[in-house]
Amino acid sequence: MLLSVPLPALNRVGKNIAQSLKKLGLETVQDLLLYFPFRYDDFSQTTSIDKIEAGQNISITGTIELIQNKRSVKQRRQLTEALISDDSGLIKVIWFNQPFIAQNLKPGDRVSLAGKTAESYGQLTLISPQYEKIGANGVLIHTQGLVPIYHLNADITQKQFRFLIKQAIEAADKFKEWLPESVRKELQLLPLATAIKRAHFPENMEQALAARKRLGFDELFIRQLRSQALKYQLKNKVAPKIIFQEMMTKKFVQSLPFTLTTGQKQAAWEILQDINKDAPMSRLLEGDAGSGKTVVAAMALFNVAINKYQGALMAPTEILAGQHYQSIQKLLGAFNVKIALLTGHQAEANFELPKNKAERREKIIKDAEIIIGTQALIQDYNISKLALVIVDEQHRFGVKQRQKLQQSGGGLWPHFLSMTATPIPRSLALSLYGDLDLSLIKELPQNRKPIITKVITEEQRDQAYNFVRQQIIAGRQAFIICPLVEESDKLGVRSATAEYKRLKKEVFPDLEIGLIHGKLKSAEKEKIMSALANKDIQILVATAVVEVGVDIPNASVILIEGAERFGLAQLHQFRGRVGRGEEQSYCLLLTSKEQQNPKTAERLQALSKYNDGLSLAKIDLKLRGAGDLYGLVQSGFPELRIASLFDYEMIKKTQISAEKIIKSDPELANYPALREKLGDTSNEEAHLE
Ligand code: ADP
Ligand code: MG
Repeated sequence: MLLSVPLPALNRVGKNIAQSLKKLGLETVQDLLLYFPFRYDDFSQTTSIDKIEAGQNISITGTIELIQNKRSVKQRRQLTEALISDDSGLIKVIWFNQPFIAQNLKPGDRVSLAGKTAESYGQLTLISPQYEKIGANGVLIHTQGLVPIYHLNADITQKQFRFLIKQAIEAADKFKEWLPESVRKELQLLPLATAIKRAHFPENMEQALAARKRLGFDELFIRQLRSQALKYQLKNKVAPKIIFQEMMTKKFVQSLPFTLTTGQKQAAWEILQDINKDAPMSRLLEGDAGSGKTVVAAMALFNVAINKYQGALMAPTEILAGQHYQSIQKLLGAFNVKIALLTGHQAEANFELPKNKAERREKIIKDAEIIIGTQALIQDYNISKLALVIVDEQHRFGVKQRQKLQQSGGGLWPHFLSMTATPIPRSLALSLYGDLDLSLIKELPQNRKPIITKVITEEQRDQAYNFVRQQIIAGRQAFIICPLVEESDKLGVRSATAEYKRLKKEVFPDLEIGLIHGKLKSAEKEKIMSALANKDIQILVATAVVEVGVDIPNASVILIEGAERFGLAQLHQFRGRVGRGEEQSYCLLLTSKEQQNPKTAERLQALSKYNDGLSLAKIDLKLRGAGDLYGLVQSGFPELRIASLFDYEMIKKTQISAEKIIKSDPELANYPALREKLGDTSNEEAHLE
């Protein structure tokens, strides 16, 4: 089987399964094999039936003595009951609402079962176990050893998914080894194909860990190689020198409605010094949500404008670009700076533009001193006097993208600043971003009060709505976050659209409610965001689109539905949407009781205890149990799916290996496979955005 085989070519991949795989981003065998489990269920010990107790996770093999479908007492659920025997005894098994099981399994069949035991009506029972017939080939993938568990959507079961992986797994041999033998040997890493196979079907935890080590290494190593290669490339490059405008900068600072924090001043000073040189700046500005990075960016852009150069500020979405456009205009309002917004759908400026669409864009590119947009900005246009590029929350803005920055005209390289709210400690940031210098804003502005965060349950929903109403009566605004857009969700999570309608009709008929989600047209999103900014909307119901960067200082409460479904980092980002002004702000985490296992509860409670992202990131890591190998880390680094941001030792190792290779062979002439791999992945990145 080739890696390029499309998934519908596999056994049992019909239209529906193909669809749901596609939703997971999986279209080919290669995609499938690179979709790793995030943990394993350990069924490595089969138990004999007489040793079983209630409340255990067990795996047994036995023979079906009896199997039948029943209606449950309340007539609401279909039950399938079976009796299983082995040499030592009998045990009862129950499945709910899966009557087909009685078709699949017949008395006399040998089966392997894995699941949890409980006491049911005084009888030891195995409840809804994974089951597998022991066939002629004797290979078991669902119920024995370490069973992989994947992040899936509701349309495809773990069992179906494992079945597909099993079909495709031998194709893992087709993955080309690209890691130099020397590196592999030195760090004792598994060959790529072996690592991929063992990640899906390890025989034991040791194998699972070794697979993870290799795959995590790869992610970090690629990242490091790119950084080092770029660093090498930029070594003798020349950038426009932006002379520090002391007087004007002071005037700007005095014009602000607040005083800058020490962290902001320090960061601004580091940046302004950097761009005052003719070597291209490569700097990362890290500061928690709300720490005030935008004004620091504005200061640098302002200096660029006075120097008669152009600066670009790029946001991850059009909404955020629109918002930056508003804020930068406000910040620089008293100064005569030509500012423009340029995205796929927007072309506006604070100076006069022609009516014609193409001409408008041309004029912006030519005349604007500060251009705000999305990443498409530097891909689609050639900004001839570009001296500074700032990217906000775009970890994917990699080497490939930066390489595009070189200007065709003078051959000068613009300075580069990347801004992020992802909390990582300084030492880690320095090695993770091998090519960037670091500025940190440690403190939040003084006027901020810590956000009060409460975990609430379904029973407190009405109370929560009353609270939201009180805040609105006091003149504030509110966000209500829902996990999904449409009511297609089988897990019963409130979808944004349905919730919006319900709130409007039943809960807040007298208030102005808005709805925003990723499927809206960009012009509509913009309209809603500006209505929110103008306080024409009091409550905004939203999906995760508001996650990063939206700045509505008047919003004082955010209610998050289905909070257990989000990661800590993401919840912290949501929470960062409030508490941006002087008012006391609140974050309400709504979660249904059923969804609350102790771990979830602890995770959510952490948010009420800690207000800083760094502490939360550490807790997130700690709460992922030993079995949770492949984290959906939500670290803010989409390309790090396996590697841990907190595995400092591994990060350091990858940095050293990458440095060594680039130093001895900057063009990778002796490492064709590696060169190809780098080319591959940076292309991928560019497409992803
Ligand atoms: P982030 O770092 O998350 O991008 P922003 O730049 O959006 O934060 O700033 C958040 C809010 O804080 C904005 O409304 C901004 O005007 C305000 N702000 C920035 N710096 C200060 C400060 N030193 N004191 C008070 N408010 C500030
Ligand atoms: Mg921001």
